[in-house]
Amino acid sequence: MCIFCKIVNKEIPNNTVAENENFLAFHDLYPKAPIHILIIPKKHVDCFQDASPETMAGLTTFAQEVARKVGVDNSGYRLITNNGEDGGQEVKHLHFHMLGGVKMPWDHTHEDNHKSL
Ligand code: 5GP
Ligand code: ZN
Repeated sequence: MCIFCKIVNKEIPNNTVAENENFLAFHDLYPKAPIHILIIPKKHVDCFQDASPETMAGLTTFAQEVARKVGVDNSGYRLITNNGEDGGQEVKHLHFHMLGGVKMPWDHTHEDNHKSL
């Protein structure tokens, strides 16, 4: 079972922000911004490439609720998913990073790599 499935099953503790029947939002353990929340479907999906339109539809509404709940709906935020090897996906369970609370620089994670692109 993957690490995020264990979080869904409460085998690993998490700092929950919001949840409903199908989705869970919790604080990233290693935040890269003042607000760094992970949004995941409770049902395991490997990555965005395997996600169904139904999952994405539900996730859209849920992510908007999360943004309102943590107060970044008006100030703004970045919502990203890393897909697969080249995307830098480390946890193979679909998740979106919601980053906010600061004006995000364009390339916040790979400042050095940026130059070699
Ligand atoms: P990825 O690189 O796969 O897009 O992002 C994985 C994210 O999961 C990273 O930002 C990392 O900090 C976070 N993470 C990894 N393990 C845990 C954990 O056990 N709990 C929480 N809350 N976040 C985790
Ligand atoms: Zn999983």
